[in-house]
Amino acid sequence: MFYKNFFKNNRRPLLISLIFFAVVEAVILLSTSYLKQKDINYYLDIFTNNLETNINMTNAHLSELTQSFYDFKINNPKVDAIMAKAAATQDKHERDRLRKELFRLLNDDYKKMHHYGIRQLHFHLPNSISFLRFHRPNKYGDSLQNVRETIDYVNKRRIPISAFEEGRIFNGFRNVYPIFHDGEFVGTVELSFSFLAMQEFLTKTDHTSYLFLIKQEVVNKKVFTSEKRNYQKSEFDGFDYDKATLSKSMQMRLNKMFSINKAISKQVAQRVAKGESFSIYFHQNDIYNDSPIIISFIAVPNLDSKTVAYILNYQFGDTLKILIKNSHMIFIILSLLLIFISLILFIYFYNDEKRRAKIFQDATHDALTGLYNRHAVNYFFKQKIDESKRYHKPLSIIFCDIDFFKKINDTYGHDIGDYVLKGIAAILQNHLRSSDISARWGGEEFIIFLPETSLEEAVAIAQKLRKIIEASLFSSIETTTCSFGVTQLREDDTSDSLLKRVDELLYRAKENGRNRVEND
Ligand code: GH3
Ligand code: MG
Ligand code: MG
Repeated sequence: MFYKNFFKNNRRPLLISLIFFAVVEAVILLSTSYLKQKDINYYLDIFTNNLETNINMTNAHLSELTQSFYDFKINNPKVDAIMAKAAATQDKHERDRLRKELFRLLNDDYKKMHHYGIRQLHFHLPNSISFLRFHRPNKYGDSLQNVRETIDYVNKRRIPISAFEEGRIFNGFRNVYPIFHDGEFVGTVELSFSFLAMQEFLTKTDHTSYLFLIKQEVVNKKVFTSEKRNYQKSEFDGFDYDKATLSKSMQMRLNKMFSINKAISKQVAQRVAKGESFSIYFHQNDIYNDSPIIISFIAVPNLDSKTVAYILNYQFGDTLKILIKNSHMIFIILSLLLIFISLILFIYFYNDEKRRAKIFQDATHDALTGLYNRHAVNYFFKQKIDESKRYHKPLSIIFCDIDFFKKINDTYGHDIGDYVLKGIAAILQNHLRSSDISARWGGEEFIIFLPETSLEEAVAIAQKLRKIIEASLFSSIETTTCSFGVTQLREDDTSDSLLKRVDELLYRAKENGRNRVEND
């Protein structure tokens, strides 16, 4: 009940402070979430760059290793001589013999290279025909023209090249070198390390999880059908996993990474299709671990600088967690501050409302009796007359004056006089309808407006009031009476003519002996 009244009586201050709160809170919410997003994006960009640097460094390290194997073991006159002979002959048996010779010459070194992650050692004849794959010694003689761009490139330009490329069997970071014998170009050799080698090195150094994605169209176009089992469909449209990268030991369970990928695949589809490098974060709803996980997509370009694969990385984002927490903290602090300011605003408007109400009350009400004062009567006198005339509804007024009030004052004192005034005001207020208006006209005179009341009804009301007053006991005074003038508004009346008539009627009541009602 108290709350209901409280809300009803303080609608304006409540409304102002609530609107203020809602608007500023919305601004706080929008701006903090905007800034939070900006900070997160900035952080993720730096994160992506750092990861790219790590991957590039790993790549550079493995490339150096590959280069040193080439320099110390592959690039020697014996190899060049075998390749020169192979390029010069068309005889199948001779080539087979040369192939075996090359295999015997380098197989021990290949095994050592393999241990370092350099998985592919592949010789080709000048026309891009596969001559010897150390990783699949029984598969040779197939043409790699238009399949292996790096080999075509070295065939044409006769200079070494490094790039990522999918092959017939594995994908790899390729290093292809031309082979010369006596200044003549006699073929090419490729030394490649796969992502697996990178994955091992990266995991060893940063202890996070990596996966490798490759475009399905590249796999379909290049890989031998028999080797397609090395790939598995991923959650990302148009991309396969390199199966070998899934089986490596991970910090994060594979199932978890798969479920994350499933959850984010739609969100990243556009950026993946564009081939950008980027990072996003994923909030897992896991009660044991509320750390966000950062998933990075690092683009792997081919020889034409087109993204054909992605290195995926998964890490717990503890710094990101602090960043998000801080932003939430700022939001909470600002909101609390706003609640405090809104409360102060409410108190200010609440007091202001009270002050206004008091000024209005003082200006329109009589301090002693609490009835409307003459100022208020003047304000709505004309209004009531207009209403009555417009809607053709009767309006009656009663003018009332306490009889021999001077004598009460003189006999019992001014305080008792005040007491009687209050008593009579209370009678007027208590015995009139809520639509009637009673006011203190001045001194010991009262005026009553009775809307929608005929003269007869008004006279009856006046008589009723007269009797009640006559019967009332005010303190030690024996009896107090009042005289009444009653009249009804007429067509040609103005407020002045109405007042003049009712005043004359009151005078007549006094003349005719007081404690009576005169009407006209
Ligand atoms: P009548 O029957 O002819 O009306 O005689 P009366 O004595 O009532 O009339 P009169 O106009 O001679 O006197 C009114 C008195 O009312 C005079 C004044 O002192 C007194 N009075 C006016 N205002 C107040 C007030 O606020 N308090 C008190 N106690 N007396 C008041
Ligand atoms: Mg009087
Ligand atoms: Mg008087």
